[in-house]
Order: sequence, then structure tokens, then C-alpha cells
Amino acid sequence: MVRCDALIVGGGPAGSTCARVLHQAGWNVLVMDRARFPRDKVCAGWVTPGVFRLLDLDPAEYRATGLTIQEITGFRTSVVGAEPAKDGENVPLEPYSGPIETRYPHIVSYAIRRYEFDDFLLRRAGVRVLDGTPLGMLESRGDVWVANGDIEARLVIGAGGHFCPVARRLRGDRDNARPVVAKEAEFKIEGAESDVEGAVPELFFCRDLEGYGWCVRKGEYLNIGIGRRDHGDLNEHVDAFMAFLERTRKARRAAHVRWRGHAYLAWGAGPRPLVGPRVLVAGDAAGLAYPESGEGIKPAVESGRLAAETLIAAGGRVGMEDLRPYEAELRRRYPAARPTPRAVAGAVRALGRRLLRSRAFTRRVLIDRWFLREPSDRGG
Ligand SMILES: Cc1cc2nc3c(=O)[nH]c(=O)nc-3n(C[C@H](O)[C@H](O)[C@H](O)COP(=O)(O)OP(=O)(O)OC[C@H]3O[C@@H](n4cnc5c(N)ncnc54)[C@H](O)[C@@H]3O)c2cc1C
Repeated sequence: MVRCDALIVGGGPAGSTCARVLHQAGWNVLVMDRARFPRDKVCAGWVTPGVFRLLDLDPAEYRATGLTIQEITGFRTSVVGAEPAKDGENVPLEPYSGPIETRYPHIVSYAIRRYEFDDFLLRRAGVRVLDGTPLGMLESRGDVWVANGDIEARLVIGAGGHFCPVARRLRGDRDNARPVVAKEAEFKIEGAESDVEGAVPELFFCRDLEGYGWCVRKGEYLNIGIGRRDHGDLNEHVDAFMAFLERTRKARRAAHVRWRGHAYLAWGAGPRPLVGPRVLVAGDAAGLAYPESGEGIKPAVESGRLAAETLIAAGGRVGMEDLRPYEAELRRRYPAARPTPRAVAGAVRALGRRLLRSRAFTRRVLIDRWFLREPSDRGG
């Protein structure tokens, strides 16, 4: 039997951050992940500076390891989508308005490759890692958990992402929240293969404002993808987006690379329990991604850190009452948005398309507030 104080299920940013902070406080931590690291994660890899602050990591230190990190000093945004054809036939995706370029005199974000970043963070945590090992069985025996029959832990932290088995066990059948569904591809490019500038990623908002696509260049790699709140016709949107990227020379081989799908739950999409008896969940397992941008790495790191700090403050006690401050603090930092009435949502949609043509709205609201979350950046 392998024994530990805390078993962390999932070695992504939430799990590795939690592991590192607990390890530094002297806890005996084991991270279990079904994937073998380094592993890929479906993600554009855009990170705000707050992520590095929360990780106590200087971007220069990260670059010095030889890993890919692209500095971002602006965004190019446009609305894509044609008027629906009268006969109801599919129409090609076309620029509807834009692009609008929003530039800054300083670095506002970074782009990293998750294949490298997550592996770096996990190794930096300095804890035992059992990768290539999915969590199968999780039994509560007295005051300990037994995982897969041979790992005994006083506490389990669910950091297994959107499909985390620990989070699923905690919430039972109560989850009817609708996740954002997305597809992306990351691949090596030759110089002339893409017109996208590394320092200025491109965002393409769907005309119905139900989602957006992106092109993020990082060194020799290009990441392209599209995510939407509605589920019915994602593949149609992906096909139209691929053709659009090829036609506009953003990605000349868009339709010939491997696209992979995933999902995430935006914060506020539905109630998700964050704590249970001797259990905490963090990151995507808790459904914490910011609803406007889909940024989930920062909430993952922030919640992983907060989980560890709560446990350390509880001085080794792991009862429900000792874990509640984690839930309370997370709900304070991530207040639930009130649902928007249908009529208001329709008006916002109609107005939104017009607003996205405004330079002032794009900079002050879309980029500063929704994507960069400045100056009201929480945490970090
Ligand atoms: C298409 C797309 C684009 C995105 N782009 C961005 C972006 O640009 N910037 C940003 O901030 N966020 C982005 N996000 C969100 C971001 O990827 C996630 O919010 C983030 O990865 C959450 O981190 P995590 O540690 O909670 O989970 P994950 O990174 O998903 O890690 C979970 C880990 O748990 C492991 N695991 C799962 N099940 C089991 C099991 N049964 N047993 C053991 N281990 C298990 C997995 O192998 C994985 O390693 C994007 C998401 C998608 C889908």
C-alpha cells in the first residue's frame, strides 16, 4: 500500500500548483494522472500575467529553460459570418466587420505550449507522480481514502479537468450545466504558412456571439480553434472556420491538420460542489473558467493554490468545516453571474455585433475587462 497525506487526481495546472504548495509546507503528496507526461491538452495556451504571479514564476525564468513562450502586446479582433442565404443554404464564413487592432506599449499576455508548460509545472512541484494511471476505484475506508486498491490518502483533491472522476462522484447526477464545446489544432508551421503575427493573436467572434475562433502563434507553432456555447452544429462551424482560415491565409493548411475536441464549464453555468468529506475540487473539475473569455488556466492555478493554502491553514485537519473556507473564498472571488433574461440576452446580442465594430468598446470592455480582466484582475 502506498500512503500519502494528499492524493491529487490530475497533474494539470490546478493539480501541480496545489501539489507544489502542499509539498513546500511539508505534506506528503502524490499526483496521479491517466496521461503520460509530457502530454497535450486541448487549449490555445494563452496566459495572462497573473498566472505567472500566482505560480511565483518569472516568465524570463521559464524562457531560460528553452521552452516556448510568446510575448503578446495586442489582439486583432473581427466578427465573422455572412448574412444567412435566403434559400437557407450554407454560406461561406466571411469577415463581417473588422479587423480592429488593439495594441499596448507593454506585454499584456503570453502564449505557451501546454505540452511543455504542464510538464514543466508538474516536475517543478517536486512531488511523486504516478502518470499513465487513471483513477479507477475510490473507496472511503474509515477516515482514509483508498484509490485503485493500493493508494491510501487522508484527503483527495479532484483536479482531473472537465471529466474529473472525483468531481463527478461529489456531484452525483446533479449536473445539468451546459459546457462550452471546442475544437482546436496545434501544429508546426513554415514561415509563409500563416500571416498571423506572434505578438498579436487574432480573435474571430461568431456573428451570433455564441462563440469565437482564434489563431495564436507561438514560435514555430500555430494554434487554431473555435469554441461555442451551443452544441448542435459545432462541426459545421469548424468546417466553415477552416475554410475561412485557409482563404484569408491565417492558416493555409487548416483543413489538413488534426483537430481535437474538448469541453469546459464556465463559472456560473451551474452549481458544482467544491468540497465534500475529505475532498476538494479545483480548476476545470470545479467549472471555474471565466465565462466571457474561456480563460481557465488562471482559475485552475488560483484554485489549486487556494486549496493548498486552506489545507495548510487548517493545520492538517480535513473535516468538512476545515475545508469550507476554500469554498467560501472561491465563491467570493468568483461571484455567480445572475442569469440574463431572454429578451435582454437578445438585445445584447443585437447590440453586441454593433459594439464589436467599435474601437473603444473593443479595447475597454472586450479586451481589457473580459479578456485581460484589468484593472479589476482578481487574485495574483
Ligand atoms: C479548446 C480550448 C481552448 C482553451 N484555451 C485556453 C487558453 O488559451 N487560455 C486559458 O487560460 N484557458 C484555456 N482553456 C481552458 C483551459 O485549458 C483549462 O481551464 C485548464 O486546462 C484547466 O486546468 P486543470 O488543471 O483544471 O485541468 P486539465 O488541464 O484538464 O488537467 C486535468 C488532468 O487530469 C487528468 N485526468 C483526467 N481524468 C483522469 C482520471 N480519471 N484519472 C487520472 N487523471 C485524470 C488529465 O489527464 C489531465 O492531465 C481552453 C480550453 C479549451 C477546451
